[in-house]
Amino acid sequence: MIMNFRQYVEKMPKVEIHLHMDGAFTLEFLYDLVRKYGGDPEIKSIADLKDKFVFRDFPHFIETWFWKNRFFREPVDFEESTYRTLKEMARQNIVYTEAFFSPWDYRESGVNPTDIARANQNAVKRAYRDFNIRCRLIVDITRDHGHEHAMDRLNEITPFMGNEIIGIGLGGSEQRFPARLFKDVFLEAKRRGFHYVAHAGEVVGPESVWSAIKDLESERIGHGVRSIEDPELVEYLRIEQIPLEVCIVSNIKTGVYSNFNEHPFAELFHKGLLVTVNSDDPTMFGSTLADEYSILYQHMKLTLPEIRHVQINTIESSFASMDEKREMKEQVNRFWIDNALSLTDN
Ligand SMILES: [Zn+2]
Repeated sequence: MIMNFRQYVEKMPKVEIHLHMDGAFTLEFLYDLVRKYGGDPEIKSIADLKDKFVFRDFPHFIETWFWKNRFFREPVDFEESTYRTLKEMARQNIVYTEAFFSPWDYRESGVNPTDIARANQNAVKRAYRDFNIRCRLIVDITRDHGHEHAMDRLNEITPFMGNEIIGIGLGGSEQRFPARLFKDVFLEAKRRGFHYVAHAGEVVGPESVWSAIKDLESERIGHGVRSIEDPELVEYLRIEQIPLEVCIVSNIKTGVYSNFNEHPFAELFHKGLLVTVNSDDPTMFGSTLADEYSILYQHMKLTLPEIRHVQINTIESSFASMDEKREMKEQVNRFWIDNALSLTDN
């Protein structure tokens, strides 16, 4: 079968390591929830819901984010949402993902964060059994509630550490809450055996990435694209091979860069940094992991061997076991050997 790049990339086994479950729900499932909780006069169909997720600007994005959170009211809503998301990802040939979830963002709904953690664990187990997709969860501890809350949250989630919940992440406002405030929380998480990753270098420049590395010893950098502004940092990231979890569509939609030409992915890649490609909040941003790969090909002008390299980077940067990594690399390599010749230029 002859395939164009789009068809090829959809069929290709994919891995992603920067995804927020809270931004990856399926529209079909959210529509079920809207109806379950008495509907919304604005939303009469899935098409209306799709329109609702076209954002005018960043404040509108945040407003819509909290609007959809209101329809998550019982633990079963979280479990089903995650399960359906993983089912959809498996359909897109995503074989492994590391996903953030934010159990403390639903105070208004009154669901206990520990119930949300348990619901997500159940969903991950069921999805692996039913669709053979592996998912590891990273609990997002937002910067915005300050350092004290962060330590409480680490304590609250520690009993859940295990096969499904493997790490803690630091998200939220980079400007107002610098990484160094969370140093002891990260070091404690490390001591307890969690993986630990921080968003940095997205809204704030290189100093934020330096702090994530030096203060938090972050194992990977969420986004990290603004590292490009500091040659010394670029060199450091290259030598240390600290993975960057790059999310191109997200960066355009949130206005970090105004278009693909301005985006530094290709430059970071060609300088030899360990860059990976991810979808961040696919439903919120109206994109998929296949879209991100298509952008690498069409706009970033990466060659096919380079795209395969990015795929292997993502597997290597994951927190999967050595056996799992070997298995995934074999799967990817087998796909390329079997299919690369069927690819046409357009
Ligand atoms: Zn993110």
